Amino acid sequence: MHGLRARPMRNSVQKRLASGPAPSARPMQTEASEVPPQIIEARRTLLPQRGNDRGPRQPMHDGGRHPRGAGGARPQVMREQSFGSGADKVRVIVLGGLEEVGRNCTLIEYKNDIIFVDMGLQFPDEDMPGIDYIIPNVSYVKGKEKNVRGVIITHGHYDHIGGIPHIVPEMGNPPVYGLPLTLAIIKKRQEDFGGYELNLRSVTLEETLQLGHFRIEFFHVNHNIPDSMGVVIHTAAGTIIHTGDWKFDFQPVDNKPANLGRLAEIGSKGVLALLSDSTNANCEGHQISEHTIGQALEAIFVKAQGRIIIGTFASLLSRVQQVIEIATKLGKKLAIDGYSMKTNVEIMKMLKYMEVPKSVMIGIDEIDDYPKEKVIIMCTGAQGEKSAVLMRIASNEHRFAKIIPGDTVVFSSSVIPGNERSVQRLMDVLFRRGANVINYTMMDVHSGGHAKTEDIKLMLQLIRPKYFVPIHGNHFMLRYNAKAARAMKWPEENIFVADNGQVMEFDSTGKGVLLKDKVDTEYVFVDGLGVGDVGAVVLRDRQALSEDGMVVIIATMSHSTGKLTQNPDIISRGFVHLKEQKDLIEDVRKRARTLIEKSDEAARSDANIIKNKLRDDLGEYLYTKTKRRPMILPVLIEV
Ligand SMILES: [Zn+2]
Ligand SMILES: [Zn+2]
Repeated sequence: MHGLRARPMRNSVQKRLASGPAPSARPMQTEASEVPPQIIEARRTLLPQRGNDRGPRQPMHDGGRHPRGAGGARPQVMREQSFGSGADKVRVIVLGGLEEVGRNCTLIEYKNDIIFVDMGLQFPDEDMPGIDYIIPNVSYVKGKEKNVRGVIITHGHYDHIGGIPHIVPEMGNPPVYGLPLTLAIIKKRQEDFGGYELNLRSVTLEETLQLGHFRIEFFHVNHNIPDSMGVVIHTAAGTIIHTGDWKFDFQPVDNKPANLGRLAEIGSKGVLALLSDSTNANCEGHQISEHTIGQALEAIFVKAQGRIIIGTFASLLSRVQQVIEIATKLGKKLAIDGYSMKTNVEIMKMLKYMEVPKSVMIGIDEIDDYPKEKVIIMCTGAQGEKSAVLMRIASNEHRFAKIIPGDTVVFSSSVIPGNERSVQRLMDVLFRRGANVINYTMMDVHSGGHAKTEDIKLMLQLIRPKYFVPIHGNHFMLRYNAKAARAMKWPEENIFVADNGQVMEFDSTGKGVLLKDKVDTEYVFVDGLGVGDVGAVVLRDRQALSEDGMVVIIATMSHSTGKLTQNPDIISRGFVHLKEQKDLIEDVRKRARTLIEKSDEAARSDANIIKNKLRDDLGEYLYTKTKRRPMILPVLIEV
């Protein structure tokens, strides 16, 4: 309900990066409306967006949005970032991704060596107006940037790469390692930012890296974007495995099934700790194969009488790939529209990860040149985003495509919580225009890319780690992941369900502890060009403005007498309609006038005293009258 002041912010806010200036430029302007490249998940493009109406959400590729925060006892932030005892221990600190789906970032430290696995972003909650996204807080490495030996990226989704342009240059530009598609996506995004060149190092699944004391290997995992991998980190305390996002798929789109033999081989050599994806840990059973999804899609395509319009996420590259394959197989013509989707397809083609026969692809401006039953349009906007391609087609605002009765529109992704109404509205429009709408839950992005309970058990069985550390997800997802390990008889004390920044230490005998201490992981907000410069105060103001609007009181006073030279002006925005609330505004004016006139001379000579009085008194008054708390902005002008 309105009016209760100072609704506590859900999370404490703040922050700074380790050091240094904000990145030099904002990303290139894309088609304004587009979901950014491979955003999985993203709705908030990199472009700053202002105002309250920020459109619907995109999924954080897979994640749902769930209330943040772990509940229960939480670790304490350490006063200083040293532990004394830990000098020759291997320290694992997950800086982000343990309390949310997003800003995944894990730090591993031993002596003078630090490596990172992933450096993602998180999209803001509803109550963070104006914030583009949140990046991991790396203040822990402040002063030891030179120790950072490298940043390893598991795959190209934004919740794993999004922090790179902001953080990596601040750490002295350490090398960024990843498979080719991952690096191509990072490179493209960096180009959109402009300026800084990253030190990108392509790896293969077969190679071994030595980064300081760490020996690193990789293994292939399935997900919903090609080139997803897990990381094996050999340390002085034992082998630590980070899975990235994963599922097992024996018939994936890229024909590289999960290699259970390799996992068993890694496991047979002894594994100290397994850090593993929790995103779908609360779902029973096995994850379905891409193959099954492909069959379902194909059945829909075969049945459709007229044109097919399929909306999906640009970052869901496996799905994009499937649509291209099915179009080819059925001898249809495919037009792709949407900046991010086109960019991703170009990257895939360039890397030869995707065969796109010339005879299949047509331009979006050519769709009318072919018989209806031959045409497929694949585009962004399945979340009902206002200005994305699908909405523009539906609302007749697209230059080349509009709905023709008999079109089949396929939503190939689930509705992200918070977007329901936008999607419903979009469906209403589509049906009204005569389209047949298919919202097929099996093609759900949620049920696409992540391990479910039985997959997790199989992974545990193969790897047999001493310690199990659920990562990637809200606290409840981590708990479900832990439950799977408990069901497999992993001892409770060997399962570390940690919060962001909570420190794990492993000694040379392979004994691990989850310390009570945590390092600083408070939000680092990115807002337009600014990184970390929007803090609690600014955010609170934005929240107040977005909830109850504001009232400006302009009082003009004589410099010599300190008296009002005219009646105060009252301006209101987002609070009440001035014309309809004449009496209220008149009362405010009178009260302001009386207040200033009744002030003694001392008060009148100090503008701040008067301003505070106006703020307090009028704030109280408006609250009693309206039960709202607009921001009150007194402006005193001396003439
Ligand atoms: Zn992912
Ligand atoms: Zn992810």
